[in-house]
Amino acid sequence: LSSHIQFGATSVTTFALFLCHKIEPALYNAVCKRTAKAIAEDMQGKFPDFQGNRANLEVCILRYLAEQENFEYYKQYLWSPKQFCQSYIETRVRSYCLNGSRRLRIFLDCFDILYKNILSAISLSTQIVKDRKDREDKVSLWLDEFCRELTEVINLPRSDLKGIEHLEVTDIEFLSSAMTKALDDLRERLMKELAGAKLSSFPRQPHTILAEHFSGCWAQCPFCGAVCTNTMQNHDGDHQVVFHRPQALTGFTWWKIFPGIEYNTHELIIDICSSLVASDCRFKFGGGPWIPYKTYRNAGPPVSTWNILPDPSMQAYWKWFVSHFRTQLEALYNGKFQGKGEIPEGWRRVTKQEALSELEKC
Ligand SMILES: [Zn+2]
Ligand SMILES: [Zn+2]
Repeated sequence: LSSHIQFGATSVTTFALFLCHKIEPALYNAVCKRTAKAIAEDMQGKFPDFQGNRANLEVCILRYLAEQENFEYYKQYLWSPKQFCQSYIETRVRSYCLNGSRRLRIFLDCFDILYKNILSAISLSTQIVKDRKDREDKVSLWLDEFCRELTEVINLPRSDLKGIEHLEVTDIEFLSSAMTKALDDLRERLMKELAGAKLSSFPRQPHTILAEHFSGCWAQCPFCGAVCTNTMQNHDGDHQVVFHRPQALTGFTWWKIFPGIEYNTHELIIDICSSLVASDCRFKFGGGPWIPYKTYRNAGPPVSTWNILPDPSMQAYWKWFVSHFRTQLEALYNGKFQGKGEIPEGWRRVTKQEALSELEKC
């Protein structure tokens, strides 16, 4: 009898160690995955920036840029809006998670939920096996139930556990308590590991999850650089924006054309695309032909993929921006706000506050 018990105990120990060895990395990954999601959700609940749609985030970014008054940031935003938006989100997530105790709390909350799920899977499987007195292959049945219970919780394929399914275990209650004990040790180890875990080691980081929430079309108006407002990537139909911007933001300048001669005046264009499409002006890209704005689609793609409706309304924000950063814009594009590019007196009177409050009303 004593040798039988000895044999049984060894089997059970082998079983528990093997199973915990499989559970450990699966649980660790599940905690990281859940934590990334929890941080993203937490931030969506707490930061107004992340509570609305992308149009709302855009307003928050424009406000941030105006508060910083850093032309380098504007340059990044105007030239690469998608990258800027992603790094804006990433920076916010990083500073939110710098708070080590907050991060650890989220980690432990996630860990607790998953750990409790595993414990309850142990007791459920044990109960089921005890009720099935007809079955000889107790361990195999126990594993079937255990993995089934945890399908949604951790990634623990039943097929990975074939090595232990034929172990001879008669006392399933003993197996259950051995598992609980082994899990306790695993818990200690994982807690230590999680306390030092870095966000960057996550397979999917919280800022990626947040950024996905604000995906959509990132096409930029070929004239002014404003970003298409369609919420679908690769959407049907034309790209469109509510407000076009002064073309000086992308460095467009006025040209003078005489028979046989044309030259760049380097006077920056302060007009917006939606005003110009109603005018008799013409444009060209690079060495291409001059095309009337009224029939801008004749320029072919990408211009022809945009629907630019005549609309003279310009946001106060860009009037403030152009007046405030006139010197930097002139230097950046080797142009001048002179002649046809003269900044109207009214623009110079727009205060940052006025620009921002108008932005928030939309
Ligand atoms: Zn435009
Ligand atoms: Zn679009």
